[in-house]
Amino acid sequence: MQTIAERLDSARKGIDQAATSAHRPPNSVKLLAVSKTKPVSDIMEAYEGGQRMFGENYVQEGVEKVQELSHLSDIEWHMIGPVQSNKTKVVAEHFDWVQSVDREKIARRLNEQRPDSMPPLNVCIQVNIDDEESKSGVALSELDALVEFINSQKHLTLRGLMAIPKADPSEEQQRATLSKLKEIFDHYHTSLSNFDTLSVGMSSDMAEAIQHGSTMVRIGTAIFGKRN
Ligand SMILES: *Cc1c(COP(=O)(O)O)cnc(C)c1O
Repeated sequence: MQTIAERLDSARKGIDQAATSAHRPPNSVKLLAVSKTKPVSDIMEAYEGGQRMFGENYVQEGVEKVQELSHLSDIEWHMIGPVQSNKTKVVAEHFDWVQSVDREKIARRLNEQRPDSMPPLNVCIQVNIDDEESKSGVALSELDALVEFINSQKHLTLRGLMAIPKADPSEEQQRATLSKLKEIFDHYHTSLSNFDTLSVGMSSDMAEAIQHGSTMVRIGTAIFGKRN
């Protein structure tokens, strides 16, 4: 059995290798450790292994962990799961990033509810890149309007895009999806100053995502083991 610290090391090595083979600098890809459903003791193990960025999917669970670990002020907390409008306040008060914003109503509430005492909330727009009916994420036809809206909000900083590509694609589908995403990212990246994040790639497609320009991979299983 490998420890969390050992699996974290392997994940970092995997990122470095994928970046190098894509002719990109290793430090151009950040590692978000996805700790959803895992206990605070697991987060502590990863923290002691040097990890500082953690992602949570469920608001209630995430907020409890943020509060419990509030003495570790150098952790950067990312909300990566769906946020209902009755949960925006508690998210705006506890997280550093929200990667799953996909509509104006949620963005407006996060902006209004971000405390003045905190720095602007970092936001990624989740895009429904494969146009799946069941998936969250803004449709590509509505992306421009949402970019413009978020960019005008004082308490939000628009950092980039997040996507969860379709599971088990063919190689060809995967390449097409990741290339399209990269093209859309580049379009905004060249014109918006803080737009520097393309959050794509999980345990199973990390290398391919890095090959296609991902700047942040979100890894759960490969670090913390299977979830129940
Ligand atoms: C669970 C989850 C991940 C991590 O997935 P793994 O396959 O466990 O690496 C990444 N992103 C999102 C949005 C998730 O919900």
